Amino acid sequence: MRLVRVDPTLCQSAEICVSIAPGVFRLNDEGLSEVYNPEGADEATLQQAIDSCPFQAISWVEE
Ligand code: SF4
Repeated sequence: MRLVRVDPTLCQSAEICVSIAPGVFRLNDEGLSEVYNPEGADEATLQQAIDSCPFQAISWVEE
C-alpha cells in the first residue's frame, strides 16, 4: 500500500498540503505538517500535495 509521509526535517510549515488535503495533513504543536489520516484523500489529491510542497517534504512510502 502506498502512503504519504512528511519529513519533519524538510517541512517549513508552508501549510500548502493542509489547504490541498485537510483530511490528511494537519500542523502539529511544533507547527510542522503531519499525516493524521493517510486515507483522507484520493491518490491524485495526495500527488498534488506532494507536487505542491515547496520544500519537497512529502513523499510516497510503500507499506
Ligand atoms: S506544504 Fe510542505 S512545507 Fe508546507 S506544511 Fe506541507 S509539508 Fe510542510
